[in-house]
Amino acid sequence: MLALGSRNRTRHGGQQVCTLCLAEDSTPYLRRHWRFAWHTGCRFHGVQLVDECPACKAPIEPHRLTAEDQHLAQCSRCHNDFRKAVCTSPLPEAFSVQVMADRVLEQDKVTFRQASIAPADWFSMVAFFIGVIRRASRRPVSPLADALLSLGISVTDCRMPVSGLAFELLAVSERSALLVALERLLSMGLEETFSVLVACNVKTSALHDPRRSPPVVLLPLLSRLSHHPHGPHRRRVPPACRPMSERAVRASWARLKRRMKAEPTS
Ligand SMILES: [Zn+2]
Ligand SMILES: [Zn+2]
Repeated sequence: MLALGSRNRTRHGGQQVCTLCLAEDSTPYLRRHWRFAWHTGCRFHGVQLVDECPACKAPIEPHRLTAEDQHLAQCSRCHNDFRKAVCTSPLPEAFSVQVMADRVLEQDKVTFRQASIAPADWFSMVAFFIGVIRRASRRPVSPLADALLSLGISVTDCRMPVSGLAFELLAVSERSALLVALERLLSMGLEETFSVLVACNVKTSALHDPRRSPPVVLLPLLSRLSHHPHGPHRRRVPPACRPMSERAVRASWARLKRRMKAEPTS
């Protein structure tokens, strides 16, 4: 689920809408599935969901409208009517992950590598791979990024998130970019993906934080990779008075912008 980031009555984001669905409603209402983090497009209209006011970029906060506003298809700050917004088409790969995840959610069991697993395990596997893609995009010059590039996944895409925020906190465009990469990885097949990872000499420590255990369904595949030859990581003492990296500055800027969105400047 997308996180609303509620603080008192203000929100940081987390509500998406399809403007065409709202336009067709006699009384506009919010759909439950618009809050799913993997939803980036509308399955009925084939357009990208909108997660901020197209005019003033404020988060969508229908609870701040008043009775005089009459309907919720409008921005609570500038009262721009969402139903008149220009629609963009969703990225087809991101949309196909959405369809796949919706189908998994409806089932009791999912077939995965000739075994049947619970939908929760499928979602944790997918979340793990999103983490892998994000780790690779943080280190574009690494065996992991090389391995993904040879699978046709570009981790240097400009729409990739730089903020380091959790997937459920990201804007629809950033989630779409990650889902496009994920679709490529899933459609390739995990056998193929792991053969490439082994060939590129990717270590397990490059894929995930060793303090968090990976999904159980991936353990047989992960055991094929070699472990880091050194002992546990020792925290290096950073030299004093060193400027922050460009990436760290951009990440804290993105986090600050998300927080500022919740508080109107006027
Ligand atoms: Zn729609
Ligand atoms: Zn607005």
